[in-house]
Amino acid sequence: MVSKVNLSQTQMLQEASEAQPLPNMNLSSPLSPEAAWSALREQMRVRLGETAYRRWIEPVTGSVVSSEEGTATLMLAIPTRFMRDWIEAHYGDTIRTMWSQLVKKGAVEWAVVAPVAKSTSETPKVAKSSVAVPSFGPPSFASASQASALSGSIVDEAPLDPRFTFDNFVVGKPNELAYAAAMRVADTETPTFNPLFLYGGSGLGKTHLMHAIAWHIRQNYPNRRVIYMSAEKFMYQFVRALRYKDTVSFKEQFRSVDVLMIDDVQFIGGKDTTQEEFFHTFNALVDRNRQVIVSADKSPQDLDRMEERLRSRLGWGLVADLHPANYELRLGILHAKAEKLGGGVPDKVIEFLAHKIASNVRELEGALNRIVAHAQLVGRTISLEMTQEVLADVLRVTERRVTIDEIQKKVAEHYNIRVADMHSARRARAVARPRQVAMYLAKQLTPRSLPEIGRKFGGRDHTTVIHAVRKIEELSAYDPTFKEDVELLRRLLQG
Ligand code: ADP
Ligand code: MG
Repeated sequence: MVSKVNLSQTQMLQEASEAQPLPNMNLSSPLSPEAAWSALREQMRVRLGETAYRRWIEPVTGSVVSSEEGTATLMLAIPTRFMRDWIEAHYGDTIRTMWSQLVKKGAVEWAVVAPVAKSTSETPKVAKSSVAVPSFGPPSFASASQASALSGSIVDEAPLDPRFTFDNFVVGKPNELAYAAAMRVADTETPTFNPLFLYGGSGLGKTHLMHAIAWHIRQNYPNRRVIYMSAEKFMYQFVRALRYKDTVSFKEQFRSVDVLMIDDVQFIGGKDTTQEEFFHTFNALVDRNRQVIVSADKSPQDLDRMEERLRSRLGWGLVADLHPANYELRLGILHAKAEKLGGGVPDKVIEFLAHKIASNVRELEGALNRIVAHAQLVGRTISLEMTQEVLADVLRVTERRVTIDEIQKKVAEHYNIRVADMHSARRARAVARPRQVAMYLAKQLTPRSLPEIGRKFGGRDHTTVIHAVRKIEELSAYDPTFKEDVELLRRLLQG
């Protein structure tokens, strides 16, 4: 017996289509988009059975967008995030395979689009609501205006966080370029660089800066129309417009703004049809000299699965990156936030946090909030011990385990000696000093005991290690350059 579980997707597909042969499966005469979408649903019905089909597939609406090169993209509007995740995880591959068999060149993209009317009927999106119209059929202008009338406007912006202002943004070396660029676009009515592209890792302040720009313009140039939204929201709006046949007002609304900000643009990587729409919107605005601001987690050329023309277009203006906060900036941010929280956080605690939490500002903030909340709840004053206690879990994951091997390698690299010299008996200063630095760092950064460390350095005695640690402390005390060197190595190792 062949187990069903081992069947490949194609086999299952064949099985599904054998069970209910489709009228028009041969590829030389592809189905019309409407017919292909209903054929796909039929195949899914057979494959899943009536109950699962009703639960997962029936509430989904599809629209097809055909590109100039002849790709038919099925744009699925799925009512909830949960359903989207479920369908993507369980049926994603099947739907993609089926679709590419039904049309000549196919692609599938999905977005969460909540049904317009609150209806408890089984098919909330189509038949029962007075506003929703089936996605296929002749273009209906009535339905478009109904949909927009209902939602007020097609494009609804994301709300702005009141804390994310320029005033609350602490500037340091790692973010000064991005900050200056953001200030500039917020204050210039004719763009000097377009787009402004902000990028950097998670939690480094991209969203904060974009909101700050929006606040600033709202306050100082109330006539300028600003739209801020995430790329995910952009896609959602687009698919919703398709679903309600309202792409005309969608385009109009986007193209009539003075400043368009799209956050986390990496989200549309691999979503070619959405990218294409974004590309057109983008060009339309830039051609009209309207400011576009885009953020992403990577530089334009490093964006994954992004069309080349969009990638290059995104890099045309000013590209500003946000670097991870260095110690000084972390300290500055913590001081500012602690003050906002009403003070009472000792400097020692702030320094401790700035040292220990280097990952990103969001985490830094989270740690501070936790300590202050804890102190208020249990009525304790904030101290170093209390901080360590409250943040035990965070601190444990932040402290990366460094091995002695890594230390030896890094230190040898840094001083340009061979790793073998870490173990050798050579006593020339050129190798002995780096070896001592490595021993010192091994003592500082690993939980290894002195004898263990000695053994790792060519079987040396633990007293040699003690001597090394003392020597390095001594040298650091009167030679700031040397101290900096060791400090740098420590940071490098701690990542
Ligand atoms: P990103 O969008 O880059 O992932 P966010 O803008 O959401 O990051 O920032 C994460 C958190 O860190 C926010 O609460 C933000 O206010 C704060 N933050 C980041 N950078 C700074 C900064 N330079 N000054 C003050 N707060 C900051
Ligand atoms: Mg963000």
